[in-house]
Amino acid sequence: MDEELAGLAGDIDRENRVPSSLLDKAAAEGLFDIESVECLLQAVRRASRYSRGFAHVLLVHGSCRLAAGGEGRIYALGITEAGGGTDVRANITTRADELGNGSYRLEGMKYFTSNALYATHFVVLATAGGEPGLFLCERQPQIRVEPLDLSGFRGSGVGKVFFGGAVCERLTEPGVDGVRVALGYINVGRLGYASLALGIADRAIEIIAEAASSKTVFGRRLIEYQGVQWRIASIVARRAALESLVHSALQDGARVDPERAAMAKILGGELALEAAWSAVQILGGRGLAMWGEAERMYRDAKVIDIGEGAKEVLMDYIAGRTVKKVLAGRS
Ligand SMILES: Cc1cc2nc3c(=O)[nH]c(=O)nc-3n(C[C@H](O)[C@H](O)[C@H](O)COP(=O)(O)OP(=O)(O)OC[C@H]3O[C@@H](n4cnc5c(N)ncnc54)[C@H](O)[C@@H]3O)c2cc1C
Repeated sequence: MDEELAGLAGDIDRENRVPSSLLDKAAAEGLFDIESVECLLQAVRRASRYSRGFAHVLLVHGSCRLAAGGEGRIYALGITEAGGGTDVRANITTRADELGNGSYRLEGMKYFTSNALYATHFVVLATAGGEPGLFLCERQPQIRVEPLDLSGFRGSGVGKVFFGGAVCERLTEPGVDGVRVALGYINVGRLGYASLALGIADRAIEIIAEAASSKTVFGRRLIEYQGVQWRIASIVARRAALESLVHSALQDGARVDPERAAMAKILGGELALEAAWSAVQILGGRGLAMWGEAERMYRDAKVIDIGEGAKEVLMDYIAGRTVKKVLAGRS
């Protein structure tokens, strides 16, 4: 799988699509049936070395499947709407009207829905009787997908999804706050973003070490310069710190600590940008080659600061929780 993904990663990025043959192979190898958060994060990190788009497909599907179960499916998660993804509660205009037989009719539009191009099932945040809940919609003609052409995580199947009277079932019980439940999926996603960053760092270290060892500048190999060695050391040290944080965010290997997941996503964004930026820099002009491996990495690294909740929002959240604990004498 690794070799095949490495060979296809450039095409996935250019064409903004994962070929169905690769999705079939991933399914045959059990990558859509992962049963634990820990294994999911490992698979995401491994795939992210080559294709963040494909790694993101695994992550979004996996975070839904761990909660919703089901076999032979590919999930998409529709939370963000046109009004913005940061303030989720204020931006739910998608409506679910009860049909009377346990089914609901959905009307509305979801923005930036990853996996929308590949999904067999959509998990959707919508309001029913004014209360937010999660709904499960099998792909059907009343669901229309319009692909989005983003610069990062290309191939992750992102699109606008229009629900024009789709008949769906309810995932959360009436009275259970759907936004809170969705946050459970998002917390796994945030650790997944940290794992995407670890995959970028893994590959960037290889690119830097190989390129710097094979190039001679002013009579010395590039790798012999302290400036290059310190770059490698900084990425390796931050990678080790992030690995520990991700590990500590997983309680009993399964439950996710939301504060640590937020911290891991923030630090992951910083690590990914540093690692990708360094890979481009050490490759020199070759690093800027459009559609090249380092150039792709750099475009992808920026997404980590935005997807699954913007960096600033997570900083507000961490600071707010910390101040509360300090004032309660529990810091
Ligand atoms: C590649 C990709 C895949 C995605 N996949 C999915 C998906 O599968 N399902 C889904 O539901 N959504 C998905 N999203 C949406 C994602 O969750 C949102 O982009 C994210 O939550 C931020 O929302 P927004 O883009 O609407 O930014 P906005 O809410 O419009 O915010 C814009 C900017 O404002 C700034 N900002 C916001 N709040 C504050 C603050 N308190 N203080 C200071 N600055 C602030 C931040 O810099 C932020 O980036 C995806 C996005 C991307 C890029």
